[in-house]
Amino acid sequence: MPLDGAPGRLLLGIALSTAIGLLAYRRGSLSRSGVGGAILTGALIFGLGGFAWAVLVVLFFASSSALSHWQAARKAAVAEKFAKGSRRDLAQTLANGGVGALLAVGNALHPDPIWLAAFVGAMAAVTADTWATEIGVLSASPPRLITTLRPVAAGTSGGITPLGTLAALAGGVFIGVSAWLLAALGGQPGGVLLLAVGSVVGVVSALFDSLLGATVQRVYECRVCGQATERRFHHGQPTRPLHGWPWLDNEGVNFLASLVGALLGGWWGAGRW
Ligand SMILES: [Zn+2]
Repeated sequence: MPLDGAPGRLLLGIALSTAIGLLAYRRGSLSRSGVGGAILTGALIFGLGGFAWAVLVVLFFASSSALSHWQAARKAAVAEKFAKGSRRDLAQTLANGGVGALLAVGNALHPDPIWLAAFVGAMAAVTADTWATEIGVLSASPPRLITTLRPVAAGTSGGITPLGTLAALAGGVFIGVSAWLLAALGGQPGGVLLLAVGSVVGVVSALFDSLLGATVQRVYECRVCGQATERRFHHGQPTRPLHGWPWLDNEGVNFLASLVGALLGGWWGAGRW
């Protein structure tokens, strides 16, 4: 029975993710609602995924939190354009961990190594995107829009820099190498495949994220200063829609990018096991 022992593992998952969520709240990495999102997704991934799954999601979360605190003062000026601050909330934790949690549920109901390949793809996608955002924002050269290559202001959705793209590649490789080491430690086959999935799928998904950001993600415009922004209010006035689909915000784009990462990882794994 695949679900044997699941209640006990879920309880352990809730305990572990609650401890990590509260620690992250104290460090300023999560808001109150973000702690809820971390407990929900963490409990499912820890409880229903397995050891490698738990380590990979902790590596994503710890590296992302450390990077958002790093050079925080220099980023503050740019972050003003973003809709949210450095504390991740419920929507952001679900956008980053939601696909991984669904894959863990799938893994518990119908165990198969393909779920892990898909999970590595999803984690590589969110890690690549977070590293690209946190490091790319420090680029000395202005970002260029991924579609037209026109220079745009730092922090603009869909803007890419060579530094950010390298960071995305590094984030995916970081997850791929970690998955490979975990498979080797556990004596499981498929480590090299997981290394390849993380290294390739991470940067591909991050570029897909930028593509959506440049085309269909909703963007508002300030009625006072005319600046494009993700915020509903700017200079004390409600902003007006500029372009994009009104229902697709930055979190929706992140969720879709991690879904694409999972599909690519699962598709890659399906042919090899
Ligand atoms: Zn304004």
